[in-house]
Amino acid sequence: MAFPQPPYEGACLCGSVQVRVTALPLLTVACHCRDCQKLSASAYTLTTMFPVDAVSCTGALVRGGLRSDGRAHYFCKSCLNIVYSQLGHAPERINLRTSILKQAALFEPFVEVMTDEKMPWAQVPVVHSYAQVPASRDEVQSLMDAYSERGR
Ligand SMILES: [Zn+2]
Ligand SMILES: [Zn+2]
Repeated sequence: MAFPQPPYEGACLCGSVQVRVTALPLLTVACHCRDCQKLSASAYTLTTMFPVDAVSCTGALVRGGLRSDGRAHYFCKSCLNIVYSQLGHAPERINLRTSILKQAALFEPFVEVMTDEKMPWAQVPVVHSYAQVPASRDEVQSLMDAYSERGR
C-alpha cells in the first residue's frame, strides 16, 4: 500500500485525546530500551517523529513516566495511554507513539535503537540498527534524510 500523505489523524485508547498531524514523518523508530519496555508493557516502543509545529492535540494530557530532566512523556489524562514524548535536546520534534495514529501499521520502523537491551526474541525488520543510539545530531539528520528518500 502506498505511504499515506498528511494530514494524519489519531487518538488515544479512549478517544479523549485527538491528534492531527499536517506533515510527513521525519523518522520512524523502534526503541528496545528497558524504560521503553516498561512504558509500553511490551518488548519495544514504536515512535514516529514529526516537526513540533505540525502536531496538534486536543483533550487533557498529563505528564508521566520518569519525569526526568530532558525527557517528557505525555499521557491521556483519562485512559493514561501514552501519546507522545519530547526530548529536551530536540524540542523541534514530537515523538508520537506510532500506535496513536489511525494508520499505524503503515508507519513501519526504519531504525531500531538500544538493541543492547532488547529482548532476544524481538525481531524488527529495520534498515538501520543501533546497539545504543545514534552518536550525534548529524547522524540523526542523515537518518532522517535517508528516511525521506526511501522508496524514491
Ligand atoms: Zn484516552
Ligand atoms: Zn527507549
